[in-house]
Amino acid sequence: MNRTVIIAIDGPGASGKGTLARRLAAHLGYAYLDTGAMYRAVALQMLQAGADPADAQAALVAAQNLDTRLIDDRQLRTDRVGEAASRVAAHEDVRQALMVFQRSFATNPPGKSPGAVLDGRDIGTVICPDAQVKLFVTASPEARAHRRYTELGARGEAASEAKVLAELQVRDARDQTRSVAPLRAAPDAVILDTTDMAIDAAFAAALSAVAGKIASNGEPDL
Ligand code: C5P
Repeated sequence: MNRTVIIAIDGPGASGKGTLARRLAAHLGYAYLDTGAMYRAVALQMLQAGADPADAQAALVAAQNLDTRLIDDRQLRTDRVGEAASRVAAHEDVRQALMVFQRSFATNPPGKSPGAVLDGRDIGTVICPDAQVKLFVTASPEARAHRRYTELGARGEAASEAKVLAELQVRDARDQTRSVAPLRAAPDAVILDTTDMAIDAAFAAALSAVAGKIASNGEPDL
């Protein structure tokens, strides 16, 4: 029996990994899980309750009692929630609590999908170290800040590009230096630098990396 194909996509914020992961999943007919949205939902639940994201015990309780409807909340994508999410994500117990769901989604995707695409910061290193395909999607801080700035503008959220860049760098540093599951590329990940790539070119490159990996693993053709 063929095992589920797992595609792990990691990278820093605004690198394009979410768009690529979503498009790959739609193209291949695989299930998709945005693990960042889970950390954001825990953070939003805490902020709404007036709790401090730095409080490990309160964060664990929020993760264990996560109201999954928050995944669709309009506030989920705001920078305030993203910033709180990166604080929440530094608590080991919170990561453990969310890992159980993430692993079972990967190995047993909903709708009996033949595969799963998960994106986040630690999918290839911690959640699914045996994933058949690992991509690490990155771009220069300036290119990522410009994308985030454009995204915020489109949503009617005013921000200065310099401030967006500064916040992104603080978040990168926190994600890269935390003691549990820091953001880094797995040794066997394909690195995709999207700094000078439009989304269609990045998608073509991601698809070709996936096809190459799957062929070399002896998995069925896409
Ligand atoms: O990807 P996104 O910006 O939505 O993630 C929000 C925050 O959640 C990240 O800054 C990171 O701290 C955390 N995160 C994580 N591990 C994941 C996914 C997200 O630590 N697998």
